[in-house]
Amino acid sequence: MSARLLEGAPIAERIKTQLKAQILELRDTKPPKLVAVLVGDDAGAKYYARSQQKDCEELGIGYELKQLPDDFSQAEMLCVIDELNEDDSVTGIILLVPVPEHLDARKLQEAMDPIKDVDGVHPANLGRVVLGDRTLAPCTSLAAVTMVEASGVDIKGAETVMLGRSVIVGKPTALLLLVPHATITVCHTRTKDMPGHCRRADIVIVAAGAPGLVKPDWIKPGALVVDVGINRVKGEDGKSKIVGDVDPGVAEVAGILTPVPGGVGLVTAAMLMKNTVTAAAMQAEA
Ligand code: NAD
Repeated sequence: MSARLLEGAPIAERIKTQLKAQILELRDTKPPKLVAVLVGDDAGAKYYARSQQKDCEELGIGYELKQLPDDFSQAEMLCVIDELNEDDSVTGIILLVPVPEHLDARKLQEAMDPIKDVDGVHPANLGRVVLGDRTLAPCTSLAAVTMVEASGVDIKGAETVMLGRSVIVGKPTALLLLVPHATITVCHTRTKDMPGHCRRADIVIVAAGAPGLVKPDWIKPGALVVDVGINRVKGEDGKSKIVGDVDPGVAEVAGILTPVPGGVGLVTAAMLMKNTVTAAAMQAEA
């Protein structure tokens, strides 16, 4: 392997260490408390709830999992969100996705008080991203940008490909990388000649949800590759495992590569904690 692996763990640890001091400062004014809303019992959503709870416990952030039955209506859900908006002891709200099909997750997220939207998905917080403001930006895009910054690669003017244009990863990441002056190309399912775009890039960020999509011959030798993808696949031994969106052979060509697992995902989890503390601090000042 020629690429240097850019691990998420030390970056996540650094963020958490900084948060501990801030949490102590908020103890007497606005102690952070995160409420996660889970509708039904999706296994993935439950897994994220457990890991959020662990992170909150480690940092001394209050955590409550609000488990609701899967036949809860949109109107009932809106009442729950209203109550959480009104509850002064709750400083952060997150809707665990996916939600059952009869619910409109986007409308529920829009009903949250933006100052408690620690997932960074409310239009007001996404609007701030357009302004170049990272306050309460989507956690995964914050993590991807933080990985690029931590790599030490010169971002100014760098040819950068963002592969994926989702609201929570691709679009906000592209916008946030304009702040340090990256030259961004956003690729997606309708892009013509995706390998050609990637080959010109000094920085490639991939958030497609397509295992092994990015091949070694798409990558400029020495480039930084940030793999955001998290895909559960069956390994050769028949056991399920987590892989990214990047073919393992990319490690032979890239200069720096973020591993999956152990890369962006760990930093995303730390960013949720950071947003939770930021939201509480903003409420303390309001
Ligand atoms: P999404 O499905 O909402 O968006 C995927 C985007 O990739 C779309 O814009 C689509 O156009 C593009 N795309 C998909 N397949 C493509 C292909 N073959 N060629 C070109 N473009 C393609 O997904 P998302 O929510 O943005 O998540 C993307 C990936 O990131 C998933 O694997 C998800 O599990 C992972 N993810 C990771 C973290 C983390 O913390 N590391 C957090 C959130 C999501």
